[in-house]
Amino acid sequence: MPENILIAIAWPYANAEIHVGNITGSHLPGDIVARYHRLKGNNVLMVSGTDSHGTPVTLAADKEGKPVEEVYKRYHDGFLELFQGYGITYDLFTTTHTENHFKVAQAVFLAMKENGYLYTDKSMQWYSPSTKRFLPDRYVEGTCYICGDENARSDQCDNCGNVLEPEKLINPRSKEGGTLELRETEHFYLDLSKLEPNVKDFLRARQSYWRDTVIGESLRKIEAEGLKPRSITRDLDWGVDIPIPGWTEAGKRIYVWLEAVMGYLSAPVEWSQLTGQKEAWREWWVNPDAKQFYFIGKDNIFFHATWWPAQLMGAGNAFMKIFAEEEKPLTLPHDVPANQFMNLEGKKISGSRNWAVWGRDALTRYDPDAVRYYLTANMPEAKDSDWDWAEFVARNNNELVATWGNLANRVLSFCYKHWEGHVPDIGGGSETAPLRDADIELLKTIENGFNIVGAELEAVRLRSALSEAMKLATAVNQYLDVNAPWSAVKTDKDAAAKTIYTALKAIDSLKVIFAPFIPFTSERLHGFFGYETPLFGEQITETVKDSLGEHMVLRYKPIEGVQWKPSELKPGQKLNQPGPLFKKLDESVIEEERARLGK
Ligand SMILES: [Zn+2]
Repeated sequence: MPENILIAIAWPYANAEIHVGNITGSHLPGDIVARYHRLKGNNVLMVSGTDSHGTPVTLAADKEGKPVEEVYKRYHDGFLELFQGYGITYDLFTTTHTENHFKVAQAVFLAMKENGYLYTDKSMQWYSPSTKRFLPDRYVEGTCYICGDENARSDQCDNCGNVLEPEKLINPRSKEGGTLELRETEHFYLDLSKLEPNVKDFLRARQSYWRDTVIGESLRKIEAEGLKPRSITRDLDWGVDIPIPGWTEAGKRIYVWLEAVMGYLSAPVEWSQLTGQKEAWREWWVNPDAKQFYFIGKDNIFFHATWWPAQLMGAGNAFMKIFAEEEKPLTLPHDVPANQFMNLEGKKISGSRNWAVWGRDALTRYDPDAVRYYLTANMPEAKDSDWDWAEFVARNNNELVATWGNLANRVLSFCYKHWEGHVPDIGGGSETAPLRDADIELLKTIENGFNIVGAELEAVRLRSALSEAMKLATAVNQYLDVNAPWSAVKTDKDAAAKTIYTALKAIDSLKVIFAPFIPFTSERLHGFFGYETPLFGEQITETVKDSLGEHMVLRYKPIEGVQWKPSELKPGQKLNQPGPLFKKLDESVIEEERARLGK
């Protein structure tokens, strides 16, 4: 029975370009797992979108002196280009600024209210007398009252990862300049303390298989500190309207973090509409057997492991009652395999200081699979990792080129030359009968590799999965060293044919095993083997119009075909002219790239 797998990936803010740390933090691991499950024949839906609301985006627009819509769309378009460049196969990458998202977010809000988890209260908020407006969240910075970091934002501290109460901020300063004063304002609150027992039960049921780093930032944190109510509206005019009369008119909107996570629910609804299967989203959202995976960085653990499940449980059956006139609960997250951070040459990545490897920029000099490979081999799964240009070049040349690329290229080229562009005929009528013990042993090793690598992928241990795949390539190289078809072809062509046939079949299998990690070169290799249908579907963009205007979306059109199982390559199959899969990088790249940093 195919499983329904929702791959939910953190929504990037429309205020900065995406760098390699973001790619390895969430987009790439999500894509690898999605591609694997598609090959397994599961029903995969991979979604995300641009987080278009909130103060990160309005501040970016203020800084440029441009309308916020224009600024968010420019970043959004850049994201779409980047995901196509790296083959991040979103079934739908949309934005939060859509009529559909507003509707879904408002229904979740109303459902939580109906179930008694929302209340209103007055609080003190930073206010700018000169511009006559409240300054929420990132408009005010100061010293964190929990860890003492001097660059905390009024709503959140990046240093200690805590959500902050604005009025407690020490030495507050306005991003706009000018003086600040505290004034009273009214907001809606989500009573997380009421939901605390439900959230604890939810986390305890998943404790056995979640990453310890994630449990530490969710369950253990709640056990130590408890959950307190949080304000869920802001004094801001850009965002999702509050579905209660008078509130939007008073210049208030739903807090960006409350509604951005609801994109995991609204994007599947939009995807269903765009693909003409209106109710299909229920397969992942109103289905207790569906498995939802959330790919995020460690700074977002609170919002995904605590806050979002609390919202879903708070909405209970009422969301479906409001949205679809039937009372059913929504599916809860299965796993939140959050990654730690990737640093760069020993220092924290910083966009403002240009201490970063920007995703789109890197693509102008390197092939996407070279970057994908290094980011996976070095993924910060259990602890922070480091992008090091010397290591990037070394891994590219020693692993990708020498171990895997050369293996595929020399076997295919040799076969193409000596067997007139066809898979060798090994005689005996069946494709396995005349094989020798060593041949059968290698093919068994590769066959077992599907289980080993598959198990690692299912548990979202992607570094280990890739390293197991590379071990299999090494096993084929060792087999070739022993059987030396390059010399045997002159003395015993039948023996050489068996070796080359076995190696080709192993490589054809390894192509599938490597495909989730390095899809572009796997696709090329698939073409060299002469298969007529491609390995993967295609990515397309389209423009969607609604009452809020229009937005561009990125979609993936999957195809049926190759599956996660050993090759059934037949003798006699016609090959296409092979070529190298990867480029060897010159050592000079290291210093060139290091010189770019911080400029
Ligand atoms: Zn702090």
